[in-house]
Amino acid sequence: MSEITRGAIGMPFEMAMGSELSRRQFHSIAQALLAERDQLKAENEALRGVMSAVVNEIHGAHISRSGNAPGHCHSIPGVWDADNGAKAGKECAWCKVWNYAVAMGNGEKS
Ligand SMILES: [Zn+2]
Repeated sequence: MSEITRGAIGMPFEMAMGSELSRRQFHSIAQALLAERDQLKAENEALRGVMSAVVNEIHGAHISRSGNAPGHCHSIPGVWDADNGAKAGKECAWCKVWNYAVAMGNGEKS
């Protein structure tokens, strides 16, 4: 959404509906925003499908519900164990990304 569009939408009602020209401009902006919304929704659905495919391809039919990414076995899901040196107790970035991808593929994240 452009700043011009944002400004037009934020216009007071009396100004937006004050003339035939401003009403037509407002309608045109509404139509453009609807088209943009539909495009973004389609892109979002496509990305969810990609995330679901990636998760299924990497982990096959055995999608972990443990909270750890494939190949990781933290005692506390998504947190580095005490014997991981400087990473101990810190959030694991791979597990975080993995869990986000799983949730997005399941339609739980946007
Ligand atoms: Zn991890």
